[in-house]
Amino acid sequence: MIGDGRCDSGEAFAAPGKAGTMEGPARLQPYLRRPPDSLAKVLAKVPEGVLAIRGVACECDRDALVFSIELNEEEGIAELTCRKCRRTIHLYDRSVAWGLPRKEGGRPKVFPYKCSCGGHAFQVAIGMEYPQDPVSEEDMLQFSIAAACLACDEISIAFDDEGD
Ligand SMILES: [Zn+2]
Ligand SMILES: [Zn+2]
Repeated sequence: MIGDGRCDSGEAFAAPGKAGTMEGPARLQPYLRRPPDSLAKVLAKVPEGVLAIRGVACECDRDALVFSIELNEEEGIAELTCRKCRRTIHLYDRSVAWGLPRKEGGRPKVFPYKCSCGGHAFQVAIGMEYPQDPVSEEDMLQFSIAAACLACDEISIAFDDEGD
């Protein structure tokens, strides 16, 4: 396992700034944990605004830290599926973040993310960068997912979407 992965607190690993909206959307708070250091490191950067980095654990079990990742990079959609309970966590949707509803109805298809080794089970952390004065908790400058493959320990940036 990578990092200690403990779910002991929802404490933000964030640059100083306003609390509240800049710690990520309220809908995601039940899943957000202190990130493993190895994943936090790859998400750390000098932010234009305020950067929050969080680990992700499922609600079904405090030790449910393993997910498959489903993406649609073109449409800017990222989801996780818990390997224990199969629940889907909708992490990010560009149309929500940018406040631009999609014209066609229905949610675009998502595709499984794979490690270069072919593995598809990951421990996950997310990076959420907010402007200094966000208009909402979804108003992110950038949303990134760092993933540690359980099969080979490789760490990759699985998803990265930049706001306008
Ligand atoms: Zn679960
Ligand atoms: Zn791998």
